Amino acid sequence: MPSIDTIIANAPGTACAPELAQGPWVFDLAAPGYGPGASMGDVIPTGAPRQGALPAEYQRATNEELHERIRAAKRTLGDRVVVLGHFYQRDEVVQHADFLGDSFQLANAAQTVPDAEAIVFCGVHFMAETADILARDGQSVILPNLAAGCSMADMADIDSVEEAWEQLTAIYGTAPDADGRVPIIPVTYMNSSAALKGFCGRNGGIVCTSSNAATVLEWAFERGQRVLFFPDQHLGRNTAKAMGVPLERMPMWNPRKPLGGNSASELEHARVVLWHGFCSVHKRFSVDQIARARAEHPGVRVIVHPECPMEVVDAADESGSTDYIRKAVAAATEPTTFAIGTEVNMVNRLAAEFPQHEIFCLDPVVCPCSTMYRIHPGYLAWVLEELVAGRVTNRISVPAEVASDARVALERMLAARP
Ligand code: SF4
Repeated sequence: MPSIDTIIANAPGTACAPELAQGPWVFDLAAPGYGPGASMGDVIPTGAPRQGALPAEYQRATNEELHERIRAAKRTLGDRVVVLGHFYQRDEVVQHADFLGDSFQLANAAQTVPDAEAIVFCGVHFMAETADILARDGQSVILPNLAAGCSMADMADIDSVEEAWEQLTAIYGTAPDADGRVPIIPVTYMNSSAALKGFCGRNGGIVCTSSNAATVLEWAFERGQRVLFFPDQHLGRNTAKAMGVPLERMPMWNPRKPLGGNSASELEHARVVLWHGFCSVHKRFSVDQIARARAEHPGVRVIVHPECPMEVVDAADESGSTDYIRKAVAAATEPTTFAIGTEVNMVNRLAAEFPQHEIFCLDPVVCPCSTMYRIHPGYLAWVLEELVAGRVTNRISVPAEVASDARVALERMLAARP
């Protein structure tokens, strides 16, 4: 199966934005959006890292030249470098990765290569931050394109969350109930800045992934009367609903409105306060797409990611993390038709890896995660050749005090057991 890049280049009109066929350097200096792709309508917050101009030689080089330069740099660097590729990353980059996985799997994978001086994370900003938090002293984490943020992670910034916390604790107080449960526990999805993970660490909270969100919510409900869940409303709602929390006890917190747009009594009644954040990639999946897949492929097995809206998760046969989706496909013993609701690079890679099954993306329009798409082989070649020349470029470094609080929240997550 051709890569998503090849499909976009050779079939104009198949992608959600024709600009996707251009090199991402065209957007590096532009403001204020994420460039073409699923999150092109989302605004990059002020203060988000920006990528400077990629040296012209990398913009001009053909993919074949770039691949050869990447291979040569990796040969020269040997064990001094480890390259990580996220499931949603384009094939042209992933082919150079030493490890492929989700963000937390990759941060952990990097720890299995303690001799590597540099970890090149071909993902997005919060992933590189997590890798830096977990890295050993002396290791540098590099994000090949600094503009590869995550529009969902950027929907909750530390100032807005601290402000929300102040308003919520003014309503709830801080005294525990008769069972020793505090009024509210903050829970952040892995897809959030290091500052928010640190906030959770400092305030008795915890981190979750899309694989362990239910376990983490159980952990939080044992210790707290309610939860403030950020930044992804959909993962929070889908998980809490499956645990039996009624929708009317999950108010949404809009950081631009006083009390998040709620009354004090709605908040008092809440079990989960959901932050007004979402993933622009997973928001594209719809109940209509599922209905079409079922009509055109009788017997199709529909699996979607829990970042999809609740109606989509309800209409699917199953929902789960990227790891869940991969394992579900790998475990199918009979040839099966799968319609998958997650990022298209991952879906097409599954289709290539498991040719005994028919696997397609629920969204008929090719629309990759535009922030992940900012990493192009040109940037990978650039940061690797800089390393060969003894220069660490695009280093992501989390301040020590933030990292230490964030580590507390991550360790709570690792200790939480179903
Ligand atoms: S797929 Fe969504 S959550 Fe994941 S990096 Fe892209 S915008 Fe962020």
